[in-house]
Amino acid sequence: MTSKVFYMKTTKQSPDDMKRDSIEKLLSQINDTDIFRKDENIAVKVNLADVKNKGCTDPIYVEKLVEILKSYDTNTHLIDSKPLYQLDECEKYTYENIDVCQHILNDSEIKKVDVDGEIIKTAKLSKQIHNSDKIITLTQFKPHHICGIAGAIKNMAIDTAVKSGKIEQYRQAAPFISKIGCLACKVCINECPQKAVELNSIAQINYTKCIACNLCVRICPKDTVKINRIKSDFINKAICEYAKAATENRKNDIIYINFLDDIKADYEDTKQDDANEKLSDDIAILISNDPVAIDQASYDMLNDAIGEDIVEKLWRIIDAQMQLNYADSINVGCKDYELVEIK
Ligand code: SF4
Ligand code: SF4
Repeated sequence: MTSKVFYMKTTKQSPDDMKRDSIEKLLSQINDTDIFRKDENIAVKVNLADVKNKGCTDPIYVEKLVEILKSYDTNTHLIDSKPLYQLDECEKYTYENIDVCQHILNDSEIKKVDVDGEIIKTAKLSKQIHNSDKIITLTQFKPHHICGIAGAIKNMAIDTAVKSGKIEQYRQAAPFISKIGCLACKVCINECPQKAVELNSIAQINYTKCIACNLCVRICPKDTVKINRIKSDFINKAICEYAKAATENRKNDIIYINFLDDIKADYEDTKQDDANEKLSDDIAILISNDPVAIDQASYDMLNDAIGEDIVEKLWRIIDAQMQLNYADSINVGCKDYELVEIK
């Protein structure tokens, strides 16, 4: 079985009219009959809360998408989930020219979905998103420093879960403190929002309290707290199992749009010097009903553009393909795709 992925090439110089046109043309590929109905609730998953707003989609695309959805008299809103780090650490982004409700999830409304996976038994999703008639996810596809790739699968899994669900996933790869280098300066102990770091000659994380927010990684003056990439397979399994819970039986109700533009590695604001370094020229916008196919196509396109496996180059220890293989094996979608260029 293969899934269709439609794409249009883009460049940094693409004029605004061409960007609007590309959203309209790509959306029309998803279904050749009218796909949206009057009064349908449509959740457009965007990035509204992010450190330095690095995951925000170009407003031109979002404006055009909302204009199309409004033309069907739908009840459209832009939505994002709360990050694990303190909200005051990141900037709240607003699409200024878009006149629809833009809000960050209310964590009190939980939709529990049994998934019985290897790691996740019951996913805790946001009712505000998952009770919508349709969901459209806008994802800035990029290499990710813990999971390997951050695409549609991760967006559906982590960013449509409530906070306790996010923690359950991130905890699979919570950071660790190296035995060498800790000065016992107590910065992490004083700043940890969960009081999860204890001092026993050197700092140690109490994993029963840790929510894997990675704040300690960012603030340690000696770079002694480390991202746990050895556990990337575990977090990827948890992500795929959450994605399964979030998408099961909803194939035609969820549309995934991946942007391969302004591509930088996602370090979630750790102190990496190369966090703002562009990895490639702009490549394409992709659309599909299949989160696995669109992520596999995005990953392949990015690697082709760079000429090597970008995740292996950045973090040798992470097997990014594992996320896609596992998602395919538990039927989140299909990694075999048919790529169709739209002009
Ligand atoms: S901030 Fe770093 S050096 Fe200071 S106690 Fe924590 S781990 Fe040790
Ligand atoms: S120990 Fe580190 S990752 Fe865990 S909750 Fe505290 S600051 Fe966050």
